[in-house]
Amino acid sequence: MKLCYSGCACKYETEAVMKLFLPAQKFGFAYEEALPREGDFAFFRRRVTGRHTLLWVIVSYDGGRRRAASRLSPEADEKECGEELCRLLYKAMSALTGITSEWGVLTGVRPVKQVHRLMAQGLGRDEIAERLAERYFVSWKKSRLACDTAAAQKPMLEALAKRGNTFGLYVSVPFCPTRCSYCSFISQSAQGAAVKKLIPPYIENLCEEIRRTAGITEALGMKPDTVYFGGGTPTTFTAAQLTRIMETLAKCFDLSGVLEYTVEAGRPDTITEEKLAAIKAHGCDRVSINPQTLNDDVLREIGRAHTTEQFFESYALAEKVGFRSINCDVIAGLPTDTAESFARTIDGLTALSPGSITVHTLSIKRSARLNSEGDKRAVMRSPAGEMTDLAADKLRVGGYHPYYMYRQKNMVENLENIGWVRDGHESLYNIYIMEEVQPIIAVGAAASTKLIDRKGRLERIFGYKYPHDYNEHFDTVLKRKDEIRDFYAEKK
Ligand code: SF4
Repeated sequence: MKLCYSGCACKYETEAVMKLFLPAQKFGFAYEEALPREGDFAFFRRRVTGRHTLLWVIVSYDGGRRRAASRLSPEADEKECGEELCRLLYKAMSALTGITSEWGVLTGVRPVKQVHRLMAQGLGRDEIAERLAERYFVSWKKSRLACDTAAAQKPMLEALAKRGNTFGLYVSVPFCPTRCSYCSFISQSAQGAAVKKLIPPYIENLCEEIRRTAGITEALGMKPDTVYFGGGTPTTFTAAQLTRIMETLAKCFDLSGVLEYTVEAGRPDTITEEKLAAIKAHGCDRVSINPQTLNDDVLREIGRAHTTEQFFESYALAEKVGFRSINCDVIAGLPTDTAESFARTIDGLTALSPGSITVHTLSIKRSARLNSEGDKRAVMRSPAGEMTDLAADKLRVGGYHPYYMYRQKNMVENLENIGWVRDGHESLYNIYIMEEVQPIIAVGAAASTKLIDRKGRLERIFGYKYPHDYNEHFDTVLKRKDEIRDFYAEKK
């Protein structure tokens, strides 16, 4: 499929909308005046006359052709024109394929941000739903979800605004015991000797980076109010290794204002009572233990090296050790999983009553790779939408409500990831990072620091992706920490 543009520059937005309909397609791009003569294409044209901006989309696909056109004022800017061309494209492709999306043309990562903006303008839920439906073709069901999420976040966002110069501290452990087949993260499997050898120097360097970072944030008068160990799977490390990192953190940073300290234990096959006790003793009050599914056949299919029984054992250990809050992640749309088996997963988890349950949707990229040997269209027949709907119903009945939400590129059926929570178990870190309202300062490989100033301007500092490069170029890692100081110095 070729996407052709004449007089407009909306490649990124229109490609995202096209992917709703043709997720596994590769697109070619052309900037030319004339309508292509043959093949599958979408042609976008913008012309400004004295009285109007004229917009057209012509799509030729699979033997069918649709044309959609619209008129805006001559002052309409690139953004307005891009949005209108996306709507025209959506209409044309829906007519050609019969496919619709509940999020309409809202393809961004953070749909709740839109809702916060509209709430700040004084709009109520119905008005927001009308606005989202009119502008983006979002369904009422998804609007309700986004409004409920925004309402749940409001007290936490207001409390943050009063706290002042704080940040979220992210500690990256990009290692896992083995690699799950659906994984698109760059985590290193710690099975092989070569990767195992990287871990001791990685931990030494991480501690040094923690010291350097703490010196900079202290000089800037910034204090962490959340700590998050993520990965990968942080509990791939031994209890002694985790202790070493956590002691260094406690020595270097003033943790007296920390409201939440999470360690993503993640894979049940890495969890021992010794590790849980060690992290609890060093301040962690929230852990994530992730079954992904409570169906052993599906676990085998996706190459998770643990069983549901191991998950239940790990969960019981976490309860025994006494964490304030436990989160469990599941994934809708895993290969070979069915709506019935997914319903049993949700029932099994709500019976445990964890503080939060995060329902992810498999991304098409991942499932396409999983299906690469077979029928790629299997991805499009995924029951993920049915799964997330029934999860929502069951979780609401079970006393959970949505509190943070994000979307990734290429999600199956253009769905979303949602954190469902019981009152009082909201993860502040998850809300703040998703809504981009607080700096996140990261240490370690495969993580990025996100700086935000008082005016809401953002800047990212990307670290090395792989532990090998992180260890190898550690001098550069340390030098780049100065960019935190420079950003805030410039913005003063
Ligand atoms: S546990 Fe997560 S990060 Fe690690 S391999 Fe599996 S999917 Fe990837």
